[in-house]
Amino acid sequence: MEWCLKQPKIELHAHLNGSVRNSTLLELAKVQGEKGVVVFADVEHVIMKNDRSLVECFKMFDLIHVLTTDHETVTRITREVIEDFAAENIVYVELRTTPKRNEAKGMTKRSYMEAVIDGLRSVDTVDVSFIPSDLNRENSSRYFASNDNGITRRRIFVRLLLSIDRRESTAAAMDTVQLALELRSLGVVGIDLSGNPLVGNWDTFLQPLLFAKDKGLPITLHCGEVKNRKEEVQAMLDFLPQRIGHAIFFEEQQWKQLKQSKIPVEICLTSNIRTECVTSINNHHFADLYASKHPIVLCTDDTGIFSTSLSREYRLAASAFGLGEMELFQLGKNSIEYVFADEVVKKSLREIFDSATPKLP
Ligand code: IMP
Repeated sequence: MEWCLKQPKIELHAHLNGSVRNSTLLELAKVQGEKGVVVFADVEHVIMKNDRSLVECFKMFDLIHVLTTDHETVTRITREVIEDFAAENIVYVELRTTPKRNEAKGMTKRSYMEAVIDGLRSVDTVDVSFIPSDLNRENSSRYFASNDNGITRRRIFVRLLLSIDRRESTAAAMDTVQLALELRSLGVVGIDLSGNPLVGNWDTFLQPLLFAKDKGLPITLHCGEVKNRKEEVQAMLDFLPQRIGHAIFFEEQQWKQLKQSKIPVEICLTSNIRTECVTSINNHHFADLYASKHPIVLCTDDTGIFSTSLSREYRLAASAFGLGEMELFQLGKNSIEYVFADEVVKKSLREIFDSATPKLP
């Protein structure tokens, strides 16, 4: 299934700090170990662990945040994550991250995001297009870009989503929405609500999310990741976000409502199985949503945490659900309609996919 790697692909659900390379985490852990911030031997074991429960994943995120919280490291991990995505023919990615404040490092939510944007600027293996088309002097409809020396490189479109962590207060969530509005001209296209699904309440985030909606910022919500959140799932469906992440624990009526609403679902197969939110790939709701022609996008969630890649997720879908090259190509191409970027970018993506259409035997 070499074609899973070769096909152009679109990634719409990827968390920055969940997508850090293990080799980078080990390197950072060594440095923090030498400073006495962590005990390297303990941390090494945790980083290399492959199967993590949902609770362990969130402990791992706390550890990653200890290792990555300074501007320079945030810039580095952003660069590496984009390079890794581009290397497997991802042509458009919406990278999401939670803006963080860290007084000890002189970091504000804004300076954290500036470090992320510096990371986008510092990629030199591919051409990164992240400025919205109406502000971009370059013609963004080209798959390849030439630099001043006439060297031609592949192009990846990158847009950013700012995540609200479920541990945050209403005021902190509002700060994130305000920041997203301020950074629109630097490629921020929407808001994500994520974080440990076992903590926090929907009511805390409703006001900031309504404000974002009112200002025209698209929203994606992690929804129904854990059991017994019937009322929250209902409130989220009634909110009518532009996309939903995961969508696992829904009641029968809620599946119906989802399908009627046609809200696209970001599907993260490996993540759902590793965290045991879905018991096995054979029971995954991908099959039902795909058969119902509901809008779905295959995504990775956290390539680092779950040791996966988008090509691997495509391979898994191909083998588990019997999908062929053309079907997965079409699934990827359909995602163009669910991206939060503007029409100019969508047009470019259609051209890229059209020129890569697999030849029928
Ligand atoms: P960051 O936002 O760049 O720091 O990426 C890591 C963060 O993404 C975690 O701390 C969580 O808040 C969020 N996250 C990553 N994976 C998941 C998931 O599967 N469910 C909910 N939140 C997640």
